[in-house]
Amino acid sequence: MSVPKVVILGAGYGGLMTAKGLAKELGYNEAEITLVNENKYHYITTKLHEPAAGTAHPDHARVSIPSVINTKRINFIQDRVSAIKLNEQEVQLENGEPLKYDYLVIGLGSAPETFGIKGLLENAFFIRNINSVRQIREHMEYMFSRYASEKKEELITIVVGGAGFTGIEYVGELVDRMPELCHDYDVPMEKVRIVNVEAAPTVLPGFDKELVDYAVKYLEGKGVEFLVNTPIEECTKEGVILKGGQEIKAATVVWTGGVRGNKLVEESGIETMRGRVKVDEQLRAPGYENVFILGDSSLVFNGERPYPPTAQISTQQGQYLGKQLAKVIRGGQITEPFVYKPKGTVASLGRREAIGVVGNKKMTGGSAAFMKKVIDLRWLFLLGGVGLALRKGKL
Ligand code: FAD
Ligand code: NAD
Repeated sequence: MSVPKVVILGAGYGGLMTAKGLAKELGYNEAEITLVNENKYHYITTKLHEPAAGTAHPDHARVSIPSVINTKRINFIQDRVSAIKLNEQEVQLENGEPLKYDYLVIGLGSAPETFGIKGLLENAFFIRNINSVRQIREHMEYMFSRYASEKKEELITIVVGGAGFTGIEYVGELVDRMPELCHDYDVPMEKVRIVNVEAAPTVLPGFDKELVDYAVKYLEGKGVEFLVNTPIEECTKEGVILKGGQEIKAATVVWTGGVRGNKLVEESGIETMRGRVKVDEQLRAPGYENVFILGDSSLVFNGERPYPPTAQISTQQGQYLGKQLAKVIRGGQITEPFVYKPKGTVASLGRREAIGVVGNKKMTGGSAAFMKKVIDLRWLFLLGGVGLALRKGKL
């Protein structure tokens, strides 16, 4: 007898939690669960700013997928999804045979939002995945290595475009990395420029002012220059051009100006807003009873405004779907809606500093940095239990 086929696209926060939840809820022979991901590993997106600055090895931010799933229950396919054909109930892969499904879960994450800014895609770097952060680190080191002989200041100027959480966390890591980097490449620290450019009137727009002021004061104290109210309008081989025409010459430009949903979702024909799908309260794609979307490709509204795309909401969506989809597969119905329970936000400013709000409590400095590490450990625990948390986690 054939059993329902569930295909889960993407082994990120949402996809992995769904797969693990389904494998736990359903008995053998109740469903055929397939998880597709382009790499054999899950990258811990929330840590990518560390290898991007060179404060941690890329392996620190990835975990082998087969090591954290029950491979007897979940059929893992390492391949790149090339198209989602909703009407044919089929997913096309770059290398393998197309996959037919009865239920589809899309958790393919995001892509950089470039707002059509000229030259960004060609000339800037992005904190996106393991290979993209390796490139940033290697490029930056190569530029620093040339400084001793060429003495051009743009070689040791780094522009970070966008002072949202990704931008701020990356700048915090750069600050930690500079002493070692300058020592290794004979660069005078005082000559290095780290410029964080933000279009909005403030760094971390919308976040608690007291915490933003703390972060700015700390990072400025370490030499970071902030330019607010200053949209980047173009990125060239030489650097960036700001609104008004001013140019900053920089050999390394890292774009942290925001994200949009994965383009495969848009291309599937589902209506999207900046590549993200407004899902119903059970995380279904509009018009498709058997298609669920979660993580950065989905939009869940909190009144008038969508929740920001985070690992926190993606994880909760995956946990929800793992349980609820199991009911549907058994012929039942989803009885409860997805309700996001925000636990707070903590952003690192390097290894020993952070800012955050947990519950109603504001945190700064060492205690916030400790909290951030606890949050990272929790994800490792959810993925691979105590063993993985002990092996990979750092306090
Ligand atoms: P992802 O975790 O992005 O996973 C998507 C998966 O799909 C990946 O494995 C990818 O390889 C795979 N994939 C993509 N395309 C294809 C394809 N065509 N074929 C096959 N596989 C494919 N959020 C927080 O809550 N807290 C934080 O502290 C935090 N820190 C962050 C720090 C940084 C530097 C960044 C960039 C983001 C941070 N975020 C944080 C946001 C958070 O990482 C994302 O919201 C989260 O990763 C989204 O999870 P997801 O499940 O949608 O997708
Ligand atoms: P974001 O959209 O939150 O921030 C992007 C920033 O870039 C904004 O402040 C925006 O004003 C600015 N920007 C846009 N266009 C610009 C331009 N032309 N010139 C200069 N600045 C420009 O994106 P993000 O920081 O990548 O974060 C993405 C998601 O991941 C968010 O939901 C965020 O909450 C989440 N995240 C969370 C954490 C954490 O909780 N510690 C860390 C990183 C990311």
